[in-house]
Amino acid sequence: MQEIKSDHTFTTPGHYGDFGGTYVPELLYPELQRVADAYHAARQDPAFNQELNDLLANYAGRPSLLYYAANMTKDLGGAQVYLKREDLNHTGAHKINNVLGQALVAKRMGKKRLIAETGAGQHGVATATVAALFGMECEIFMGKVDTERQKLNVYRMQLLGAKVTPVTSGSAVLKDAVNAALQNWAARSDDTFYLLGSAVGPYPFPEMVHDFQSVISKESKQQIQQAAGRQPDYIVACVGGGSNAIGSFAEYIADPAVHLIGAEAAGKGVDTPENAATMTNGSTGIFHGMKSKFLQNADGQIDKVYSISAGLDYPGVGPEHVRLQELGRAQYVAITDDEAVNAFEYIAKEEGIIAAIESCHAIAEVMKLAPTLGSDKIIICTVSGRGDKDVASIAKYRGVEIDD
Ligand SMILES: *Cc1c(COP(=O)(O)O)cnc(C)c1O
Repeated sequence: MQEIKSDHTFTTPGHYGDFGGTYVPELLYPELQRVADAYHAARQDPAFNQELNDLLANYAGRPSLLYYAANMTKDLGGAQVYLKREDLNHTGAHKINNVLGQALVAKRMGKKRLIAETGAGQHGVATATVAALFGMECEIFMGKVDTERQKLNVYRMQLLGAKVTPVTSGSAVLKDAVNAALQNWAARSDDTFYLLGSAVGPYPFPEMVHDFQSVISKESKQQIQQAAGRQPDYIVACVGGGSNAIGSFAEYIADPAVHLIGAEAAGKGVDTPENAATMTNGSTGIFHGMKSKFLQNADGQIDKVYSISAGLDYPGVGPEHVRLQELGRAQYVAITDDEAVNAFEYIAKEEGIIAAIESCHAIAEVMKLAPTLGSDKIIICTVSGRGDKDVASIAKYRGVEIDD
């Protein structure tokens, strides 16, 4: 059995037990190796790390706060709840941590053009943001169905100078946008860098995204020591592809005293066809360049997925999470739309924080967990993003009419 090394990484690069790997067309393989080499060289280079740290501090606004949620703690009547406030970053989510890192790698490789896939548009907006910042050309692939559902984000990307290309193949949603982006990359890898949005895809993306998002737990580890004089007992984060969760877990993986919990989307219920609960219902497969768990039918065709939260609406999950689940190192729970919407309203009323509906899947788990624990226990929950984008859909869910 492959083990986790003392520096928290896995023993074979790109392989998490039987999961991960680089399942791509032969044409793309050498380019992925070039990306891996460039990224590893960058991480050894003090100038790269200094530039990244400078951007994280002065552009993204890091460190993000670790906030003691006194009202929630009192109301839930159990463990002490701290919130890691990724919603306070520039562009309103954790995604900026990853896009800054990868765009710097792209620049170092001499690439002039960034491409990305996007579902709800959040990763597209983040990529378009760094492309604007670095003066790079940018093209975002987005399922046609998604471009119609998320017109505001399409316009945002265009404001930032990106070209948004609607993808009509397949079901014209996120998974099809990933395929289109991979195809475009294979055709134009000479000048183009594919900036992948989560801890998924072929090696080196899961490792790179883990690394760039681990700033979340690097900070929280120090912040909780300062605030509480000790390390936490639980880390809770939502899981779509798994990037904010792996970043929130990263520095604690080697410490078995810290329980790691990922909250994925159960949609209308894990027993209904309408969910995105890959860790709960998925099976092993190969898709989007990686061996991982997917929601798929008996023929290996990828299922349609559903969640109220567009950011958790992905039929796969990062391979490192599948391995952590298999090793029993992390646990994954599924949270329904209803539970997430309740949590959305709860954290707004209790703490004055409008959190992303994705993040509210993690909050919903905290609402269940905290009351079962003693007041000597500490939970850190990552608020992956802000919820302004979700207000209209929550109103609709509650049957409230909003005229604008
Ligand atoms: C994109 C997004 C997610 C889901 O992505 P992960 O890679 O699983 O972190 C979660 N929360 C917010 C706010 C997002 O924008």
